Amino acid sequence: MNFQEILTQQREFFNSQKTKNINFRKIYLEKLKEVIIKNEDLLYEAIYLDFGKSKFDTFTTEISFVLKDIDYFLNNLKSLSKPKRVRTNLANQLGSSKIYLEPLGCTLVIGAWNYPYQLSLSPVVAALAAGNTCILKPSEIAENTMKAMAKIINENFPKEYLYVVEGGVEEITEILKLKFDKIFFTGSPKVGQIIYEAAAKHMTPVILELGGKSPAIVTSSANFEVAAKRIVWGKFLNAGQTCVAPDYILVDEKVKDSFLDSLKSYIQKFEYGPEAEQYTRIINERNFDRLTKLIDQEKIFFGGKTDSSKKYIEPTILHNVTWDDAVMKEEIFGPILPILTFNNFNEALLQIGEHEKPLSAYLFTDESEEKEKFISQISFGGGCINDVVMHLSNDYLPFGGVGNSGIGNYHGKYGFEAFSHQKAILDRVTWGEPDLKYPPYSDKKLNWIKKLL
Ligand code: NAD
Repeated sequence: MNFQEILTQQREFFNSQKTKNINFRKIYLEKLKEVIIKNEDLLYEAIYLDFGKSKFDTFTTEISFVLKDIDYFLNNLKSLSKPKRVRTNLANQLGSSKIYLEPLGCTLVIGAWNYPYQLSLSPVVAALAAGNTCILKPSEIAENTMKAMAKIINENFPKEYLYVVEGGVEEITEILKLKFDKIFFTGSPKVGQIIYEAAAKHMTPVILELGGKSPAIVTSSANFEVAAKRIVWGKFLNAGQTCVAPDYILVDEKVKDSFLDSLKSYIQKFEYGPEAEQYTRIINERNFDRLTKLIDQEKIFFGGKTDSSKKYIEPTILHNVTWDDAVMKEEIFGPILPILTFNNFNEALLQIGEHEKPLSAYLFTDESEEKEKFISQISFGGGCINDVVMHLSNDYLPFGGVGNSGIGNYHGKYGFEAFSHQKAILDRVTWGEPDLKYPPYSDKKLNWIKKLL
């Protein structure tokens, strides 16, 4: 496939100014919504084939996210696109100042496999809403969902506006040689680096939505029932294949035993058996093998059963874990939950601070001083107090990482801004201007300027 040709067509289309029209954008956002709803069954089937994800999870964590994003932009496009008036300083009187959010142009979205619809289509929706053209390359690891997205989009959208490329590393490597106006990538920090380097060759700005080891701290004042219930849900949702899932737990040594019992009771209550609808499979053999090697048999507190024929790994809790264990050396991205302990709260924060800045962090406590320290003393993309994962479902909050977990953010208006350039315009009247700044210079003029500035 000639990717340069598609991009050239998209550039010509962008230059035709059509995508700048708000009604044009709305028509195609409506169309995308219609296409998704019409093909919902196809989308459910594809994701089930890829990794056994249920209709319930696919709707609540993928389809509903994309539909909600479309509705948000349909309802807010006018106000988001409106130029924002700002103050004008004394030196520029008489004049008015405005910020215009203009589309960047031709954009590239590269998706990850773990929430293949949400992580591919939500950035696409933001890119189109902001008035750009877009090429989407979903992850080839979730092959059926990639094909499903290519089918429903390429059959319904003009390719000079929105096009889905099917393919893997070979294809994306070719595409990355081209000059885009923005690249939006979701995936691992390792591949993020490759994307960043390729983008730098063309001075293309990037949004990198990456991963890392997201901690959950449980203190002695926490409500254990609530903490255990929410952590078990957030950790084993999608079988732990969630970028913002709690990767490991740091629990106060004093309350470790009773907290572990609460965790275990919720895992049992939620019924994550090999045949359970509510439990997703591991995406492929490579990840299944990688994960099973991380289960240290000596440290299993609960779980540990695996079935390679079903790519099933039972929710597994490892205790007495230290930072020297293999499970603490990489992002787990699977249903294994290591438990580490601390003796005082500051020590827990120090442990987190000694490692790469996580995408998310969570704190379960009833103490306001601990909440304040958690927010101010360690750096992470975003997170929750007394919950996990849910911050990303609030579109009024920006979603993104920091340091090794990412660059930039999106969701709601932040997604619109991610795909826009803020063009600053000063508009001046042509009368009533003092001669102060113009040559020839004099001490008198300088004295006036000093007074005014
Ligand atoms: P990945 O980095 O392996 O793949 C992501 C994308 O990069 C895919 O589309 C793939 O085709 C492409 N890719 C792979 N190798 C490439 C190469 N050599 N050159 C160019 N492109 C390449 O990530 P993944 O396995 O799909 O997802 C898991 C990772 O993504 C985890 O680290 C997870 O935390 C992170 N993640 C982050 C978010 C977020 O929103 N921040 C969401 C989901 C996943």
